[in-house]
Amino acid sequence: MTTADAPSVGHDTAIRNYQVLVRRYAQLLDLVRDLTSALHLNDLLERVALAATRLVECEGAVVLLRDPLSGELQVGATTHPGLARLRVREFPVESSLAGQVLARGEPIVLSSEALQRPTTQSSLRYYEVALLAPAYPQSFAALPLVSKDVCIGVLEAINRSGGQFSPEDMATLEALAGQAAVAVENMRLFEQSDLIAELVHEIRTPLTALGTAAALLDRSDLGEIQRHSVLSSLRQEIARLNELADEFLDLARLEAGRARFQPTRFSLTPLLAECAEIVMPLMHGNGLKFVRQFDPEGLDLFADRVRIKQVILNLLSNAVKYNSPGGQVTLRARRNAGAPQGDGESCSIEVADSGPGIASESLPHIFERFYRAKEGEQRAQGTGLGLYIARHIVESHRGRIEVDSQPGQGSEFRVVLPLANIAGRLPG
Ligand code: ADP
Repeated sequence: MTTADAPSVGHDTAIRNYQVLVRRYAQLLDLVRDLTSALHLNDLLERVALAATRLVECEGAVVLLRDPLSGELQVGATTHPGLARLRVREFPVESSLAGQVLARGEPIVLSSEALQRPTTQSSLRYYEVALLAPAYPQSFAALPLVSKDVCIGVLEAINRSGGQFSPEDMATLEALAGQAAVAVENMRLFEQSDLIAELVHEIRTPLTALGTAAALLDRSDLGEIQRHSVLSSLRQEIARLNELADEFLDLARLEAGRARFQPTRFSLTPLLAECAEIVMPLMHGNGLKFVRQFDPEGLDLFADRVRIKQVILNLLSNAVKYNSPGGQVTLRARRNAGAPQGDGESCSIEVADSGPGIASESLPHIFERFYRAKEGEQRAQGTGLGLYIARHIVESHRGRIEVDSQPGQGSEFRVVLPLANIAGRLPG
């Protein structure tokens, strides 16, 4: 090579790289259009993983989002065959490469050099690298998904075909990660705007009632008894609006992922006793018998105590609200029989009542947002948000909530939650 050739070789390479980038950005524009048309978060994340795989021609990609409950990185989607086969659901923040990226907010590239000598390299300690052993990847790229200065997740690309991730690959992935973060945020906002539309619909009825009450109170010919009755329904509607406002704010925070759960290890039994104490006056006030049957100890959860309390209180107050005079409410809790020792054990918390029950056509909708069964509507005031919020909380704790009910024979709500494992962490 002559000295005169050198700049022209560099120049040619620069032009080639530039052409690759321009071609990729054109592809990226198409992909972004594709991202904005996704209707669900899972669908969106799958499109992002596929886009990364195609754009930089790698073996596979994985998109992780930070979970508000555990703070861990949950796998949203992956195109990597090894990871897909392993069905890994989350990467621990403290020991994964993705966790490093989340903490630093900066991309990281691992070259084949770092990956090929795993015994002496810190890369072995990275959770996702060790996971793929013994087939150690040749190259690894991890980038933060940043929205409004907050790192909401990580995009990883694994095994660039035929080599390492180049600076052009990283520039392409960075552009994709930026678009993906905006798309995730938009999806969350879109879901919120749906929620707001439903709220506006819900507040119309109490607002109309308030308008009518105000017009009636304005009439000079209104008798004292009527005035009292109008004032009482006015107060009821105001209370309902207040309840709606509180529950709506709670729900909006939960749905936006802004409510940080604060999991701790605690025993369920004292929590149940606390809940029982709170609802006792309500039971007595309504002439109801309150039966408690729970295992004295051994039911340890790793969960957000305040949120679990909220769920139990909601079920208990519904059991009071939708009960019959002289009826009964039973609160039960037990370790689930037959569950294996260690990880995977669960407990059930049951709230049963002797009320009129729920019609079979209402049952499938009972946990939906703003749903109120016709038969219950006349019986008690409510917002139709309590059970929806309860389901959200329970499912965020990897549990489930279900109901059995026969008209005329009461209802039984059951919450199944994983018990804390030996290490006191959320079971995997
Ligand atoms: P709210 O009680 O504020 O309306 P929830 O989401 O807690 O909202 O409950 C949704 C609906 O489910 C209620 O409106 C009621 O119709 C029905 N429901 C809930 N719990 C019971 C119960 N224990 N017995 C009968 N119906 C119930």
